[in-house]
Amino acid sequence: MSGPREPIGVIGTGYVGLVTAAGFAELGSEVFCVDIDEAKIEMLRRGEIPIYEPGLVELIAKNRERMHFSTTLEDAIGAVRLLFVCVGTPPTYAGDADLSAVNAVVAAMPASSEHALVMKSTVPCGTGRSIQRVFAEQHKDAMAYVSCPEFLKEGSALEDFFKPDRVVVGEDGEGWAAAVVAELYAPLEAPLVLTDVASAEMIKLAANAFLATKISFINEIANVCEETGANVTEVARGVGLDARIGPRFLSAGIGYGGSCFTKDVSALKLLAANSGYHFQLLSSVIEVNELQKRRVVAKLARHLGPLAGRRIGLLGLAFKPNTDDMRGASSLVLAARLEAEGAHVRAYDPIATDEARKIMPDLDYVASVEAVIEDADALVLVTEWPQLVALDWQAAAAAMSGTVVIDGRNALDADAVRAAGLRYEGIGFG
Ligand code: NAD
Repeated sequence: MSGPREPIGVIGTGYVGLVTAAGFAELGSEVFCVDIDEAKIEMLRRGEIPIYEPGLVELIAKNRERMHFSTTLEDAIGAVRLLFVCVGTPPTYAGDADLSAVNAVVAAMPASSEHALVMKSTVPCGTGRSIQRVFAEQHKDAMAYVSCPEFLKEGSALEDFFKPDRVVVGEDGEGWAAAVVAELYAPLEAPLVLTDVASAEMIKLAANAFLATKISFINEIANVCEETGANVTEVARGVGLDARIGPRFLSAGIGYGGSCFTKDVSALKLLAANSGYHFQLLSSVIEVNELQKRRVVAKLARHLGPLAGRRIGLLGLAFKPNTDDMRGASSLVLAARLEAEGAHVRAYDPIATDEARKIMPDLDYVASVEAVIEDADALVLVTEWPQLVALDWQAAAAAMSGTVVIDGRNALDADAVRAAGLRYEGIGFG
């Protein structure tokens, strides 16, 4: 690394903040992390990492000297020019993005011509313009503003940081900060999209909306495959080999989840509506996804009859493997629906149980995969954790009371399940 790297501030030490902080520290920057959550900052100071993300503990330990943690914004403001905003923007009850954390950060900014706010949080298109208007009203218009949306995926977040498909940097007018942000990312040698703020904001929302659309599309194809005798895995393979379509995000299952797709798709739909445009396609994408989470209930009922009193084991809870994030997970809807039908639901996840318990405190959580299988009338694969995909189905069949296995991710070896005498059903097989 030649010459000292630009130091940065990172406001918000969640998934995006910690990965961004650790990534830039690894590239050589001093990184000043700030969070309002005192317990979290205390943990980080002790070297404990509050989230599960593969490789993150090790990377933060490796760069410990360059990473500073505080609950005081001034500690970062006094040390850096660039303040990366990585606070949460969860959905409101109405489905819009809740910008209260972003607004709190904006309100705390100094009147400074030497600082730039670099927005990594996902915000509706137009937020940057509003923030710059607020800065002007508060006589802080010397402060630079950059939109730098984040595209990392939980579970492979560090790999995504170091090998991004692209880096998007948006700034309006002749500012200085976009070039500095772009320079920070330069060692990653990723394609750079240097653009205006509104377009940068929209790139993030449009990318997530497109990916969600692809998933809902293949899920609808899967449902038609079930009616027509086709095999969705074969169909997706054949369709995905078309270079114009591509193979990724064509896996049928029980719907997309996670903190981002669910809220960003809804936020884009409402952003359009608030601007006077009815984004009809996204309404369908959302509706298909909601129905998809519930289809497993009908599948179980077809095999078992009424579900009241039936013991259903959920294999996995997180919205995808390699994360403990439960936000927007399909398991939330599935577990609630099954319990509403009177089923007794037992659940096992290798990592996400603590997070799940915060949202669904009354679910019956078990500490081992054996315990979730024991006496189950049916099992549902919800999250394709490798250890769940590789289950010994002969042993499972011996421990279960019933014989039904629903593969909610089309990830199991159907032949192995059937060879154990169990009834296998995936998503999208006629
Ligand atoms: P998170 O909830 O994990 O972390 C947010 C952090 O911000 C928390 O630690 C919270 O205590 C802190 N915070 C809240 N208000 C604060 C304030 N005023 N000052 C300092 N800290 C404050 O959120 P996340 O998943 O990291 O997401 C952050 C943003 O990045 C969101 O807008 C999200 O949509 C976007 N994003 C997330 C992902 C992802 O996979 N998680 C991917 C891309 C983009």
